[in-house]
Amino acid sequence: MELIDGNKIASDIAAELKAEVATFTGRRPCIALVRVGDDAASISYVKKKENMAAEIGMTSRLVLPPVSITQDELCALVDGLNADAGVDGILVQSPLPKPIDEVAVFRRIAAHKDVDGFHPLNLGKLAQEDPTGFVACTPAGIMELLRRTGVSLAGKHVVVLGRSLIVGKPAALLAVQRNQWANATVTICHSQTPDLASFTRQADVLIAAIGKAEFVTADMVKPGAVIIDVGVSRVPDATKKTGTRLTGDVHFPTVSKICSKITPMPGGVGPMTVAMLMKNTVKAYRQNNHV
Ligand code: NAP
Repeated sequence: MELIDGNKIASDIAAELKAEVATFTGRRPCIALVRVGDDAASISYVKKKENMAAEIGMTSRLVLPPVSITQDELCALVDGLNADAGVDGILVQSPLPKPIDEVAVFRRIAAHKDVDGFHPLNLGKLAQEDPTGFVACTPAGIMELLRRTGVSLAGKHVVVLGRSLIVGKPAALLAVQRNQWANATVTICHSQTPDLASFTRQADVLIAAIGKAEFVTADMVKPGAVIIDVGVSRVPDATKKTGTRLTGDVHFPTVSKICSKITPMPGGVGPMTVAMLMKNTVKAYRQNNHV
C-alpha cells in the first residue's frame, strides 16, 4: 500500500507557484480572506491560507467582519472587493453564522474572482470543460493528487460518495472529463442510494466525501482500489489529551491493508485544498490582468 502524501504534493505546488509569482513584475497576486466571527475551525483554516499565500510570495488581505454582520452588509463588503482592482481572488470562509444565506453570499462574488469555484458560472464552465473557469479547490486537489501519483482515471470506474456542490458533484464532473487523466466511468452515491456497498465494491477509485467518520470499511472496498478520503470528522479518543481526534470517512486501519493507494487524514486532501486555492488565485491574477 502506498500512502498518498498530500502535504508533500501541496508543498511541491506551493514551490512551483512561488517560482511563477517571482517572475511577475508589478504587484503580487492578492487574495482577500473574509472570515465572519470567531469560529475556531475557521480561524485555523484561514490562518493556513494566509500562511501559504505568504510562503508563495502572494499578498493576502484579511477581512474580519463581526458575527453580527447582516446579509446586506456582507454582500456590500463582497461588492467592494469585487470592485477593488488590487484583489484577484475572494474567499469567504464557510460556515457563515446561521441567519446568513451562505449560497447567496458565494454567488455575490464576481465569477472572475471566485477562486473557490462555487459561482454558477464556474460550475457551468466545469460542466462545459471550459479551462477559463475556476474549479472548486477540494475536487481540483483530488485530481492533482491522483495525477501527481501517476493514477490516470482513464477506463477506470470511479465511485464518488457524496453529491455536494463543493466536493462530490465537481469531483464526478472532473473524473468524467475528456482528457488523459480523466475519461473515467463515474457513479455518484448519496444518502438515498440503496445497497451502497454494492457500488463501492466496484470502485477502482473510491472518493469518499460524506462527512461520516470511518464509514467506509474494508468489506466495502475492492482489493487494490485507490482510496481518496475527503471527510473530516472529530471523534472521541480517550488516548488523546484533548479527548478527541480527527478522522476521515474511511476506516484507515482496515482499508489501508487491502487498497493500493490511500490518502491519510490528516495530511491527504486537506493541504491540497489550500494549495489549489492559491493556484486558482494566481490563475485569476493572470486572467484578470492579462499576464
Ligand atoms: P455535505 O454538503 O454535507 O454533503 C455530504 C454528502 O454526503 C451529501 O451528498 C449526502 O447525501 C452524502 N451522505 C451523507 N450521509 C451519507 C450516507 N450515510 N451514505 C451515503 N451518502 C451520504 O458535505 P461536503 O461539504 O461535501 O463535505 C463532505 C466531507 O468532506 C465533510 O466531512 C467535510 O468536512 C469534508 N471536506 C473536507 C475538505 C478538505 O479540504 N479536506 C473540503 C471540503 C469538505 P444527500 O445529498 O442525500 O444528503
